[in-house]
Amino acid sequence: MKIIREQMKRHMANSLLYNLSSRTKALKNISKKFIVTTTIGRSICQYYEKSRTHLFKSVEIETTSICNRKCSYCPNYYIKRPVGYMEEGLFYKVIDELSEINYSGRLSPHFYGEPLLDKRIPNLISYARKKLPNAFIKLFTNGDLLTYDIFMELLDAGVDIFRIAQHDEETSAAIRETLGKIGNKLNVERIEYEKFYNNDNYLMNRGGLIEVKHDVEMKFCDYVAGVTIDYKGNVLLCCQDYKAEYSFGNIKDENILEIWNKKNYKSLRDKIKCGIWTLPICRVCNGIDK
Ligand code: SF4
Ligand code: SF4
Repeated sequence: MKIIREQMKRHMANSLLYNLSSRTKALKNISKKFIVTTTIGRSICQYYEKSRTHLFKSVEIETTSICNRKCSYCPNYYIKRPVGYMEEGLFYKVIDELSEINYSGRLSPHFYGEPLLDKRIPNLISYARKKLPNAFIKLFTNGDLLTYDIFMELLDAGVDIFRIAQHDEETSAAIRETLGKIGNKLNVERIEYEKFYNNDNYLMNRGGLIEVKHDVEMKFCDYVAGVTIDYKGNVLLCCQDYKAEYSFGNIKDENILEIWNKKNYKSLRDKIKCGIWTLPICRVCNGIDK
């Protein structure tokens, strides 16, 4: 009982901090949208970003590249990535490095692989939870393998929020059963549920790899405020870089902070955060180039 109480307390504190920081970010972004509409505004913004050093707000670690689905709006539909798993030691290495800086942002085990296909996930989450008590652990999943038992196991391991994406018109039987069994209100609050199968308006074109009805045109981009690590250990530009074309280093060889603080990486992030698109992938992502 004491352990459950402790867990709830920790979850609520993490949840509160996470929501507060999301709201502050939303407010900042509203004013920034006006600033970056002109060339001068973008230059001022870049000058300001240059003078700041800040830590990444999220870390996404892909532990497996495998996905059981081939959704039509995902590059997994037609481009094969090698099947692979991140070496366990590499996952622990990143978590240890994050622990040294008492990381308190979001941590999510995913990129384009489905995390629940990796049987090691409960252990990996549990390790991360112990080492990063202040991090907000959010697990993105298509929900196909999220049975009630797995849900409870992962909750125990330390997941704060499950973000389930429904990719069929109907809710799958597995999810219906799991949601039905959870019952307890506090556990239901641990789930964010989103239907994706016909939501073309809000989908990104994945760096030009996917046809979308309407391109998402961004005035600036905050995707670079987080770190995306693929199963091979590459630190990538963002979660849109499916083909891992823009890598700034590999966590096998370097500390995550060393990579984050590299001059070329920082300078690129400063520009992207102010709507200065120098990379082809960003221009295509924004619908400027086709
Ligand atoms: S959208 Fe998600 S579930 Fe669908 S293929 Fe891509 S990674 Fe898999
Ligand atoms: S604009 Fe660039 S950094 Fe931002 S999401 Fe698109 S590809 Fe990624």
